[in-house]
Amino acid sequence: MKMNKLSPIILSGLSVSKGIAIGKCKIIEHGQRNIEKSILKKNGDIKKELLKFDNAHKSTLDELKKIKNKIKPSVQKNIILFLDTHILLINDKEFLLNIRKRIKESRYSAEWSVHQEYLNIKASFEDMTDNYIKQRIDDVQHVVNMIIKNLRRNKNIKNTSIKNVSKKIIITDDLSPADVLVAFHSKCSAIISEFGGRSSHSSILTRSMEIPSIVGVKNITKLIRDNDEIIIDGEKGIIIMHPDKGAKKYYQKIQLDQYKNKKELISIMHRDAITKDKKQIELMVNLELPEELKMLKAEYIDGIGLFRTEYIYSDNTYKKVVQRMSGKTVIFRTLDIGADKEVPENIQSGAIARNPALGLRGIRYSLNNQIIFLNQIKAILRAAHYGNVKIMLPMITTLSEVEHAKNLIKKAKEELSSKRNNFSDCVDIGIMIEVPSSAVNASQFAKHVDFFSIGTNDLVQYALAIDRVNDEVNYLYDPFNSAVLQLIHNVIKAGKKYNIPVSLCGEMAGDINFTRLLLGMGLQSFSMHPSAIPEIKKIILNSDTNKFRSIVKRIINNDAKKKELIDRINS
Ligand code: PEP
Ligand code: MG
Repeated sequence: MKMNKLSPIILSGLSVSKGIAIGKCKIIEHGQRNIEKSILKKNGDIKKELLKFDNAHKSTLDELKKIKNKIKPSVQKNIILFLDTHILLINDKEFLLNIRKRIKESRYSAEWSVHQEYLNIKASFEDMTDNYIKQRIDDVQHVVNMIIKNLRRNKNIKNTSIKNVSKKIIITDDLSPADVLVAFHSKCSAIISEFGGRSSHSSILTRSMEIPSIVGVKNITKLIRDNDEIIIDGEKGIIIMHPDKGAKKYYQKIQLDQYKNKKELISIMHRDAITKDKKQIELMVNLELPEELKMLKAEYIDGIGLFRTEYIYSDNTYKKVVQRMSGKTVIFRTLDIGADKEVPENIQSGAIARNPALGLRGIRYSLNNQIIFLNQIKAILRAAHYGNVKIMLPMITTLSEVEHAKNLIKKAKEELSSKRNNFSDCVDIGIMIEVPSSAVNASQFAKHVDFFSIGTNDLVQYALAIDRVNDEVNYLYDPFNSAVLQLIHNVIKAGKKYNIPVSLCGEMAGDINFTRLLLGMGLQSFSMHPSAIPEIKKIILNSDTNKFRSIVKRIINNDAKKKELIDRINS
């Protein structure tokens, strides 16, 4: 009898990194779900349960060691440190003893015992006053999730760590930025996840590393099995399960066209980004990992418009970055710890806030941890000796924060000078405009700083009250909202009035749907993930801003035909 072939099924999600991948899947689940209380029926089951726990413990330990060994030496140290912490935790004597005790004395199942021990540790962490230690509960949870996954392995529940993903499409509940890095090094071909948002750091990394990716696909880990063949269209946010020959042929053709288009784009890279009406546009890149620096063609860009320093905190890297750019601008943003950003192991983070995006993050964190801030500023000033460096302060909300930060920068210079260190004394100080009140008050800030950079990832989140990493509300995350556009326009106008440069470094800058709109608002500097530069440059070369300036005004003012007008300027 002939087996019926499965019909194609189309799923959709939020597109976060474009590109097409056709291939087999690998399921990677991290979630800890539905752990039910279960008591062993017979005394005889205790031994079996203890053995089951020991096996799961061993598998988890092996898994962690393997991940660690697989990471290439070029990967930054703090990612390896995450893994070391996890290995230490899983071998903690008391942790192991307590779990075994629960199995033996309370006759709980291994899964329930591990979960109970986790809750117990979590409760004790809550009483601690040291915020750094308090936050380590995340590590405990990570390790506990891994043990539970391994305990469930016998129950045919899909789960694995990131291994054997070469050329595979990863299907996951969620990936941390560290996971994305491991996946990239392991040469995965695409990532689809149940959770996440367009501007989460994992998504930003997938774009930087050009890994096609879709997020917010509910229950995808339940719908797809290991080795199922699928197609992912990262641009449209579409997934085709069980694709037929026709679908494969169609997407193979698109893949080929994209490859040709990429070649054509490369051929325009050497040209200056000048619009048809002769406006010179600055195109810079956003970077956050040393890996990205290696892939960068410095000669084709005007500088680094946003260097996120949360992942790199070493003097030497700053210096290398500056030297690599040979005199072109490098804007180091000071630590923007908190909310969705990962925290390096050597830096203490703030309290576990109920509302972290509104908490002690960005400049607030730095002003509250002055030694860390001063050390970072000194490292930036030393690197500035080797090129053209600017300092950018994130999450500025008040003028007094600017003054306070400037005083500390002055202090850092005095300390460097008293130690006779090589450093640069003339470094521009700018601010990120990512808090709506600062966008409204941009004129006031303009008199006190050297430049603005509009951080639309956060500006949209705060203006529309939409958590940028929450997949349940990301359908509301809309940079076209006229309130957002008015805020951006206000900042650009303030910059022009007070004659300070304004750049935009949020994800909007690298999104072709917004290029003409931003040009029409008068924006002359864009900073984006490197892979977006060719396409954005192509649009700039083909744009005559005189032709759409009046339409842009109508779009900003929420004209009834807004959608049509956006299509018109983009066509
Ligand atoms: C932004 O908020 O737009 C931005 C560029 O900063 P980050 O994404 O690092 O918060
Ligand atoms: Mg931001």
